[in-house]
Amino acid sequence: MRLNSLIILSIIMLLISSTVTWPAKRVESSEMPRPTEMSSIIEMIQKINESMLFSFHHGLMKFGPRYTGTVNCNLAAQYIYETFQDMGLPVEFYEWRCGGFISKDIIATLYGVDPTSTAEYILCGHYDTVKGAPGADDDGSGTAAVLAIASVLSHYQFNHTIKFIAFSGEEVGTYGSFTYAREAAFRGENIVAVLNMDMIGYANTVEGGRTLRFFPPVRSRWIADYATSIAEKYHDILDMSIATFPSYPGADDQPFVDYGYDGVWIAHQDGYPWGHSANDTADHLNWTYYTKATKLMLAITAEIAQKPIDVQVMLRQPYEGYLYFFKQPVLQTSYGKKWFNGLRGLTIIIGGRTMATAEVFSKEPIRYVIFCVDGEFMVWDSQPPYEWQIKGWFYPLLGRRTIEVYAYTMSGKVASDEMDVFIISLSTTYKKP
Ligand SMILES: [Zn+2]
Repeated sequence: MRLNSLIILSIIMLLISSTVTWPAKRVESSEMPRPTEMSSIIEMIQKINESMLFSFHHGLMKFGPRYTGTVNCNLAAQYIYETFQDMGLPVEFYEWRCGGFISKDIIATLYGVDPTSTAEYILCGHYDTVKGAPGADDDGSGTAAVLAIASVLSHYQFNHTIKFIAFSGEEVGTYGSFTYAREAAFRGENIVAVLNMDMIGYANTVEGGRTLRFFPPVRSRWIADYATSIAEKYHDILDMSIATFPSYPGADDQPFVDYGYDGVWIAHQDGYPWGHSANDTADHLNWTYYTKATKLMLAITAEIAQKPIDVQVMLRQPYEGYLYFFKQPVLQTSYGKKWFNGLRGLTIIIGGRTMATAEVFSKEPIRYVIFCVDGEFMVWDSQPPYEWQIKGWFYPLLGRRTIEVYAYTMSGKVASDEMDVFIISLSTTYKKP
């Protein structure tokens, strides 16, 4: 008995220590300040002002309409790249092809300093526009906010990694975010949340001037709840609130959700009459509101990137967006162009005996990991590797299903992950007596 516990404990310790050697982290100089209290975040908030936001926004707007794949779009990409570079952040172009378009996303990374954390957060907007529209609000506002927040946060250190991303291809079908999310899932990146700012520069009512809308899918509501708590924490200086709405599946956060991550679209409340037109110009923005919205997003990003993560679980297999024939992944499914039909990232399982495996990151020992389908208990496993051979219990799992996994720590903390699958299989576990 005692020997057994010792073995379990060693396996758990091995699991915990293995997380330390995960992707190599950049070593930071210890001179950069790490925000440990509210005062340092207030200091960051105060560094955002209208003129710096205007200058980033103008830098982007001067190229005119930025339809995906055009010269203007590429010039804007170069401007964003160089702007991140000037901040001293590692930056890269992510070139993609999808739906007949060739373009690039720009990614700047502020590496986390906690060596035990593989977690990363994405703060993003899209710099492309529809044809003929200058895109001041849609989405020059979100992109310039990404730049402004990056320029401030780059002077500080956070526990977890923050990626600042400007996507293109949004207006033609969220192609830039789709190709990026698909590859990130394939690499097994630990993206905890995607904060997608798309149209955050306008208000024309008193209430709209104090409100930022979050549109999370059900499973990402925790992001809006967390953002609400941060808006309350800094309410005295920002006078802003979060309003949580049902999910809207057409923005750049959705491909991440399709590939198993959590994400949310963030936008202003009041209707913007000049969207997708030649009149979407900087003089139509409400700069007072836009500045406040950017400050709030800075506070949310800084707080979430510093927040300790006690326990996390990730479904590692089956792979997102693959077709399985029995145990074997045979090909990567591709519904990239059809962004609207909910098939992106769908995993299809034909036959049975496919394994589901879960990986747990935890600061304390794990009591057990439970696998469910559509909210119903299937099996539990108390020792790593945590796995389950996918089968129905009393009846076969035919059709579209959600596989859920829950990890429980010894002290009762719970983490979960889920995956959409389409199953064609007749196998069950239950044997008639
Ligand atoms: Zn947009």
